[in-house]
Amino acid sequence: MSSYVILFLVIIMTSVLIVEDESTILMGLKYCLEQEGFQCFTAEDGYHALQIIEAEDISLVLLDLNLPDMSGFQVMEKIRNIQDIPIIFLTANLEEVSIVKGLDMGADDYITKPFKTRELISRMKAVLRRNKKNMGNVIHLGKVCIDLNSAKVMKDGHDVMLTALEYKILLTLVMNPDMVFTREKILADIWDVNEAYVNDNTLTVYIKRIREKIEDDANHPKIILTVRGIGYKVGDVF
Ligand code: CA
Repeated sequence: MSSYVILFLVIIMTSVLIVEDESTILMGLKYCLEQEGFQCFTAEDGYHALQIIEAEDISLVLLDLNLPDMSGFQVMEKIRNIQDIPIIFLTANLEEVSIVKGLDMGADDYITKPFKTRELISRMKAVLRRNKKNMGNVIHLGKVCIDLNSAKVMKDGHDVMLTALEYKILLTLVMNPDMVFTREKILADIWDVNEAYVNDNTLTVYIKRIREKIEDDANHPKIILTVRGIGYKVGDVF
């Protein structure tokens, strides 16, 4: 029974609720975000937005300030009464005065229309990253999920068999998503200095093995990125 529950949790993607009454913006955003691997829900007014919040497991809300039935601020207040989901306001230029109000009330960020999708996505990722630190003991990296309690790694709902050392390397990178690790630092952190056989090539081999187990394409990794001439870092995968 519990394994079914775990399987169910693993296949959940990062889901975003877009609340926007201009259907061209709504549909455009939905398309772009789906291309980026987000699961999108849409609402054209506050009432439907709240219904979706109640029914679905939403990770982030993009919220237009001017909606037909209530203001974005009112929607935010109601969302916050249900649960603490990160919110990014979508605002028009003239509404900038109210942005301060929005941030005061606890919005996580805002973006002014018209905006570049690239910029929005990078802000979304930043908000999600900040928020992740407060989330439970399961780290999601796209299709891969790491359960810190059981030290288990899964991909697409299937167990990934990592050796203890492979797991330690992966965890070191994942727990510090903003950091580039030099090869020397990984070696120093992870290996016992007395282990004479350990060298640069050993690390390369380990990274290669981990990638083969968790990446879709080990030759074009998205989770463990090589920072040329320096070392490795974890990629922005959600
Ligand atoms: Ca609007």
